[in-house]
Amino acid sequence: MRRVLVTGGGSGIGRAIAQAFADEGDAVTISGRRKEALEETNGGRGMTCVACDVTDEAQVAALFGEPFDVVIANAGAGAPMKMRDMPLAQWNSIINVNLTGVFLTFRAALQTMQTGGRLIAMASTASLQGGPNISAYVASKHGVLGLVRALATEVAREGITCNAVCPGFVDTPMGDAAAEGVAKRFGISQEEATARIVSGNPMRRMIRPEEVVAAVKFLASPEASMVNGHALSVSGGEV
Ligand code: NAD
Repeated sequence: MRRVLVTGGGSGIGRAIAQAFADEGDAVTISGRRKEALEETNGGRGMTCVACDVTDEAQVAALFGEPFDVVIANAGAGAPMKMRDMPLAQWNSIINVNLTGVFLTFRAALQTMQTGGRLIAMASTASLQGGPNISAYVASKHGVLGLVRALATEVAREGITCNAVCPGFVDTPMGDAAAEGVAKRFGISQEEATARIVSGNPMRRMIRPEEVVAAVKFLASPEASMVNGHALSVSGGEV
């Protein structure tokens, strides 16, 4: 039985990952800011639910009393805005959650992680390409991929791997918020906004959380022991 930690486990992709590992018999810990959301994810599966803001160094360190075999740094946030209008506070907030949160999570994990350990960051196609009105998000997610590529070379000799999963537009609360933003900006319906967003995807549809889970499960598996520093795009061929 592996010990698995998923940050941002109270919704969306993190919830789907946590439930999939728990349903396979792994010992899963989920962390997030809202305890009720974590309990909803748990739904009687026996997960350990811990309140933790990934930007808080002490709270993150406290997650790692015991070593984990698989650590999935999934918590993330985004708020679309043109860069020329963006307050410094918004920039800092997105970089703190998406990039510094991964740094704090992986650094704390490495204090106790053993040979065979797996560090997996939820990056994005925004780690691989740019786009309008999401400069802080893109910068943070490019940073996450840089961190993953660098750390992979540091931990390789310890038999630990560090990889990134890079999904395109996924059907989650964050995906809904992105579509809402586009709908508002262009005065169109939520469905039209979703269609506009997925028009850049060769498969012309949103990605399902389970499709991201499959990539995470592969990177966490013994079969992926030689996959290290990789950016695994789950984007229907968009990137
Ligand atoms: P989501 O909003 O459902 O999940 C994000 C989770 O992170 C939420 O549970 C939120 O509460 C948590 N979180 C945010 N700030 C936090 C903080 N400071 N401390 C702890 N937890 C915090 O959205 P999602 O789509 O499931 O996103 C999960 C990850 O996938 C994110 O890193 C996101 O950037 C990435 N991603 C999402 C998409 C998409 O289209 N939905 C695409 C590519 C990558």
